[in-house]
Amino acid sequence: MDRQGLEQRIVILGSTGSIGRQTLDVIMKRPDDFSIAGLVAFSDADELRRQAETTRPEFICLVDEAAASRLRDDLESAVGPKPAVLAGEAGLLAAAAWDGADTVLNAIVGGAGLAGTLAALEAGKKLALANKESLVAGARLVKQALERGSGSLIPVDSEHSALWQCLVGEDRSEVARLLLTASGGPFWGRDASELADVTAAEALAHPRWEMGRRISIDSATLLNKGLEVIEAHELYEVDYDLIDVVIHPQSIVHSLVEFVDGSLKAQLGPTDMRLPILYALSWPKRIGPILPAFDLTTVGDLVFEALEPGWAPCFDLAVAAGRAGRSYPAVLNAADEVAVAAFLSGLRRFQDIGNLIDFALAEHEPLDIRSVGDFTAVDEWARAAARRSVASIDSTAIGSAGNTILKRGFVI
Ligand code: NAD
Ligand code: MG
Repeated sequence: MDRQGLEQRIVILGSTGSIGRQTLDVIMKRPDDFSIAGLVAFSDADELRRQAETTRPEFICLVDEAAASRLRDDLESAVGPKPAVLAGEAGLLAAAAWDGADTVLNAIVGGAGLAGTLAALEAGKKLALANKESLVAGARLVKQALERGSGSLIPVDSEHSALWQCLVGEDRSEVARLLLTASGGPFWGRDASELADVTAAEALAHPRWEMGRRISIDSATLLNKGLEVIEAHELYEVDYDLIDVVIHPQSIVHSLVEFVDGSLKAQLGPTDMRLPILYALSWPKRIGPILPAFDLTTVGDLVFEALEPGWAPCFDLAVAAGRAGRSYPAVLNAADEVAVAAFLSGLRRFQDIGNLIDFALAEHEPLDIRSVGDFTAVDEWARAAARRSVASIDSTAIGSAGNTILKRGFVI
């Protein structure tokens, strides 16, 4: 066990969410290695305040301005040392570039995470990235920010952390294929035709992982796995033809790399996001343990199955959008955020999620995303297009028109 602490000062973007809370747990288990410089959330002032009381950060930030000003007022009457309270988008950018921090963990959900990713990298931080949407929607901007700021980026997503760990010490030219594992979500094993009317509660009940609401629905549609294929393509610069997905319902093998000699390397571990979070924070070192030893003899059978095209239309659409490139992945992400919200609020059926995304992709005039302005314009266009479809198109009509972009041979 190493005696010298890493002494890393960390800012968490999205500290009140699922990944944010698990990151705090990891940090509190390793006080010599990690401490909190600042915490950012959207509007959950009560939870943010509780977190600040236990971690004593230099600042806290709420992106929702009204919630931030209420929190500021509340803290005025509090006794003892108080953190600075930042507010709004400007607060988020200041937090991501905070002088007193070495590392930023970005656990914001959705396209809203891109601005923090870019600000952290431009400020030269080490970025532990859970917000996969940054890479899906703004890969070119992320790579430019990495070059400009000479920061570093390490993924938190369990599959990409597994790939990273398998690639350590290997020559990239000897990689033949990346194999991402997928649990299959709550509906794996059911016929696709039975899924049109599943409820939000059924779709949110993931068998292996407890996550935020959007990623839980994306795991049920498998759109999340499509986002992860794009994330892997952007992170590791591997061609789409060389990235495969295999269903592995136990979520013990987190992903694999196949090499040119036919050998496969896998990373295994318990189904617990705190391990990839710890790896991202401690990288390039390994520290711990923070969890009880993992007993392989209790795991039982490990199963691997093929994902057939057509079973998960959202997955097929996501990979098609990734392959088409340009602004299509940003449209996919934004339209999905709107579609998932419409499903969760009962406005649309489960099956409509893919159809709504499909309509936005089919209507889109692609462009190259070269600036934050381009990203914002595409993101806003796609949200408006998806909202128009939610409001105007009859479910049965979009149901029968589904997957137009796939039928049109949009996939190369
Ligand atoms: P969540 O919904 O539980 O939490 C989201 C966090 O983002 C909250 O703290 C919220 O306050 C904050 N937030 C939301 N909108 C914001 C905005 N506009 N500005 C600033 N902050 C905002 O989500 P989660 O499950 O923790 O997922 C976070 C990210 O991590 C997602 O990109 C997800 O794909 C990725 N991820 C999650 C898991 C998991 O197990 N939960 C696993 C792998 C990757
Ligand atoms: Mg994942």
